[in-house]
Amino acid sequence: MTRAGIAFRTGTVVGGASVPMDGAHFRAPQKTFDARDREGHPYWPDGYSRAVLDSDYARVEQMLHVRQFGWNEIPKAGGLFAKMLDAAGASCDRARLNYTDCNHCAQGCTFDKKRTLLHSCLPLAESHGVEVRSPSLVDHIDAVGSLNVVDRDRASYDAYLDRMDAALADVSAKSGVTLLPIVPRRLSGTTCAHLLSACRMADTKERGVADSNGRVFDYENLCVCDASAVPYALGVNPALTISAIAERTAEFVVERG
Ligand SMILES: Cc1cc2nc3c(=O)[nH]c(=O)nc-3n(C[C@H](O)[C@H](O)[C@H](O)COP(=O)(O)OP(=O)(O)OC[C@H]3O[C@@H](n4cnc5c(N)ncnc54)[C@H](O)[C@@H]3O)c2cc1C
Repeated sequence: MTRAGIAFRTGTVVGGASVPMDGAHFRAPQKTFDARDREGHPYWPDGYSRAVLDSDYARVEQMLHVRQFGWNEIPKAGGLFAKMLDAAGASCDRARLNYTDCNHCAQGCTFDKKRTLLHSCLPLAESHGVEVRSPSLVDHIDAVGSLNVVDRDRASYDAYLDRMDAALADVSAKSGVTLLPIVPRRLSGTTCAHLLSACRMADTKERGVADSNGRVFDYENLCVCDASAVPYALGVNPALTISAIAERTAEFVVERG
């Protein structure tokens, strides 16, 4: 079996990947929270559901200025794409974004039009006395268990590309639009900008690294509240869910004193 190379895209700057990210923000669907592993164990710790996270989602959306743009505000290419899918009998709606009015650059923003953490949580934290130290590098954490690095094989990646090609061929046939591949996907490795679950939350330490509050098992004062705590792939872009869970962990830390 040939293994696909995986390129990881990250943002190693103050503000993390919120700085170069696209800015698409979605609430995860309930089926994400219902997912179970092969042995039938739930991926998410007890008490998590879409309904439970909704108020945290709302708070983060307000902080990041997430909104759905009107059809009259989106770039022409997006409108044409939606029209093509409509002609093929498929639905296509506008993403929810955290830009203010601008030209919708795909990634990054040099004009401060995007509500990255540099323009939302970090100034707020600083106004409450937090000191951001940069550059400082964490170079050591004592491990209590072993990490399972998820390996994706080339066969499942090819099967995924086959399904995608079939869906695109279907859209092309139904809409009468000729679609040209812009990236030779089969020649390149997998790219991932949504790294999740390295320190996943779980009900027990046999199944994960941290409890449902993000507190690391056996380490009373160590909490995980970034992408690594999210226990399972979300099916949508993850930043909103990462932030919503971090809100809950922050509340837990404050309540505990
Ligand atoms: C190009 C790109 C586009 C994306 N687009 C979207 C999108 O549209 N919508 C969406 O929901 N998600 C998107 N994502 C994913 C999203 O940005 C990430 O899932 C999210 O930012 C992860 O948040 P985090 O806090 O876990 O980690 P990060 O935001 O990656 O922050 C990690 C921080 O830790 C710092 N750090 C790393 N190692 C050390 C160390 N040893 N010592 C000290 N500090 C360290 C880094 O410098 C960084 O500041 C995108 C990501 C990329 C890279």
